[in-house]
Amino acid sequence: MKITDQDKKIIKRIVLLFKPYAANVVMIILILMISSTLSMIFPLLNRHIMDNGLLVSDYNVVVKYTFLSFWIIIINQGLGLLETKYRVHLSNIIPYELSKRAFKHALKMKIQFFTDTNSNELMSNISMDVRNISRVADRGAFYLIIQVFKIIGGIVGLLIINWKLTILVVCIIPFRYLLVRYLSKKRRQLFEKLMEYYREYSAWYGDTIGGIKEIKLWCLERIKIGQFIRKQRNIINAEIKLSYLDKLNELSESILYHFISNTLYILGAWMIIFQKELSIGGLLAFITYSSYVTTPISSILNIGYSFSNVLPSARRLFNFLDMECEDDTVKGNNKHLDIDSIKGHIKFDNVCFSYKSDERTIKNISFEIKPGEKVAIIGLNGSGKTTLLNLLLRLYKPDSGAIYLDGIDINTINLKEYRSIISVVSQDLYLFNTTIKENITLSQSMDDVKIYKAAKESGALEFINNMPEKFQSKVGRNGSKLSGGEKQKIAVARAFARDSKILVLDEATSNYDVESESYVNELLSKNSWDKTVLVVTHKPAILKKMDKVIILDKGEIIDSGSYEHLYKSSHFFRDLLNKDDSKKNVI
Ligand code: ADP
Repeated sequence: MKITDQDKKIIKRIVLLFKPYAANVVMIILILMISSTLSMIFPLLNRHIMDNGLLVSDYNVVVKYTFLSFWIIIINQGLGLLETKYRVHLSNIIPYELSKRAFKHALKMKIQFFTDTNSNELMSNISMDVRNISRVADRGAFYLIIQVFKIIGGIVGLLIINWKLTILVVCIIPFRYLLVRYLSKKRRQLFEKLMEYYREYSAWYGDTIGGIKEIKLWCLERIKIGQFIRKQRNIINAEIKLSYLDKLNELSESILYHFISNTLYILGAWMIIFQKELSIGGLLAFITYSSYVTTPISSILNIGYSFSNVLPSARRLFNFLDMECEDDTVKGNNKHLDIDSIKGHIKFDNVCFSYKSDERTIKNISFEIKPGEKVAIIGLNGSGKTTLLNLLLRLYKPDSGAIYLDGIDINTINLKEYRSIISVVSQDLYLFNTTIKENITLSQSMDDVKIYKAAKESGALEFINNMPEKFQSKVGRNGSKLSGGEKQKIAVARAFARDSKILVLDEATSNYDVESESYVNELLSKNSWDKTVLVVTHKPAILKKMDKVIILDKGEIIDSGSYEHLYKSSHFFRDLLNKDDSKKNVI
């Protein structure tokens, strides 16, 4: 197996995973070294029992050395117990640390990453990679480290008994090396292919289950089952080939061992019977020592083979961990906010933004929202309204220009603190599969009066009270047990309960019934409500209550003003409202 510079860097990072547990690692290696040194003595003890006890009928020698062997076994077992204690801790903590790092990183990844990546694929990649990398901390890995030591001890043992036979044993090793090298190359190629099949499969699976409604309505079941069979067939074929390779490797190891021991029996017997240069006990001890040499050599040559899936997995996981996070984007973005003194003044200054390099989604946008002002954005589908809010929420960063909060460039503010002053109800809101109460509080501690008040203000209280378990009712996956309007009401309650200085509503009440909507509208337009409010909506009832309406078209502001002013002066605005009546093009 050829190790590239890139591979060396990855191996170094894997080794660094053990750094915090260096004391553990040293203890494990020390224990394994002592225990393997002790087991080195066995063949010599057995030779002594055979040659100087059994063959010369000295019962005392047999009893004495058998007891000695027994005590060594007891000590070795005790050491094994101690080694397990240290190793088990390590082999659990390494996957835990890796998973934690990956999870924390996933939470910090830029939102664009999740629009491009299937979450099932991400989850299955991470768990597969963590499992594969963690193999370096399991028993086999430590066992390998002491193999080197065992070989040295084994060769010393062989030389003590007979140097001629030792040469024979050592000469066979290169053949084994060539075979293992060939097999490990094949295994690595096959494994990379298998990883690709698994990646494709989980992405496809997530996508299929995500689109279950379409599958049912368009009767796509047969097609999907066909796709499932094809994808599984690829995986199974690759797994079968991998199993064959493993068996071939095992087979070659076993044949080599038997070949060596059988040859040693024949040559050894010749040396015992005709040459008289070897004793019976010596031959038996020699065969045992030869296994000490050949078995570890097989394992060492097999490192590449046994761990051939570690490097591809480590490469993929480390690549993921190296991806840029959202708060890495601006250097020095850690200005702290005095949250209580935030006024809620927002200013867009010449902001431009594109998702793709060749297409401008937002073009030179400038506008200002004074503290406590209520502003609406309106425009045709795809005109950039949600993008504008996403820029304000720092889900994306402007290509040029800047957005200011109370005069501070938002991209220089500590991200967590910044987000904590904004409550959002987005178009594609998400409800967690838990109770209504937890969906409102989002697992943060909050007193019941506040929850009740938020539910009342959002218009959710009535339907919650009609549910059998009220606030403790489960909402299902992404609120599947609720209607569109009920989901929105919980999301609005969530935003109200947070009680932030700035409120952003992206079509938050599009599925509301008239009565609940007017309730929310009243609240939004209350002058006493000192929150800065930014809404994307097409509903005249809300627009009328706003201080200002901004009209967006193809990523540009084409007009702004009060509802009355725009209704009188803007043909485009009137058109938008009329089109909305027929519920076609707007928003
Ligand atoms: P609106 O909210 O006004 O309907 P959006 O802000 O959602 O419009 O979208 C503006 C444009 O940006 C559309 O042409 C849309 O296709 C594109 N767009 C939106 N989100 C993405 C994305 N994540 N990647 C690439 N293009 C996007």
